[in-house]
Amino acid sequence: ASHTLIEKLEKTIENIPDFPIEGIQFKDITPIFLDPKLYEEVIEDLANFSRGKVDVVCGIESRGYLFGIAIAVALEVPFVLIRKKGKLPPPFVSEKYALEYGTAEIEMKTGQLKPGQRVLIHDDLLATGGTTEAAAKLVEKQGAIASQFSFLIGLKDLHGEKKLEQFNAEVYSILNY
Ligand code: AMP
Repeated sequence: ASHTLIEKLEKTIENIPDFPIEGIQFKDITPIFLDPKLYEEVIEDLANFSRGKVDVVCGIESRGYLFGIAIAVALEVPFVLIRKKGKLPPPFVSEKYALEYGTAEIEMKTGQLKPGQRVLIHDDLLATGGTTEAAAKLVEKQGAIASQFSFLIGLKDLHGEKKLEQFNAEVYSILNY
């Protein structure tokens, strides 16, 4: 990303200490939507990372949708939703993963990804990587290939990228903290 885009995003994204629990610094990306020009620049940057390299974009509910659909439209490729448990009618595939406390589960409608398709998995933020790892497993369960991961923000200290190494995919975050 250009230096100016990085600077603008650093100024725009809000940091909320100790939310939702003590010790977590919550990154609020919603001020980006108050600035349509900046939003466009973000999409262009993320689309440039993936152009010519993927056949499908998958976005993770819900903030992954806010940028993922626009990336897919910019690349002129299909967009497929990865949903939280309990929202999809059957048939779907699901994948459980560990959270700090307990487990979570994500799901994807079957039949929208085709075997062999190269997939970009997009979310707003990479923390421990648990969510994205589960998303990539959903993609591979259907015979498609997790080829790329992109994020607005990567939290380096949580080593999410290590969890994604098994997929042999490219990883990109516009901002790294
Ligand atoms: P993880 O599975 O640990 O990589 O968590 C990633 C998911 O949790 C993403 O969908 C993020 O939107 C959300 N998330 C985790 N940490 C934060 C944070 N510090 N600020 C905002 N969202 C977060």
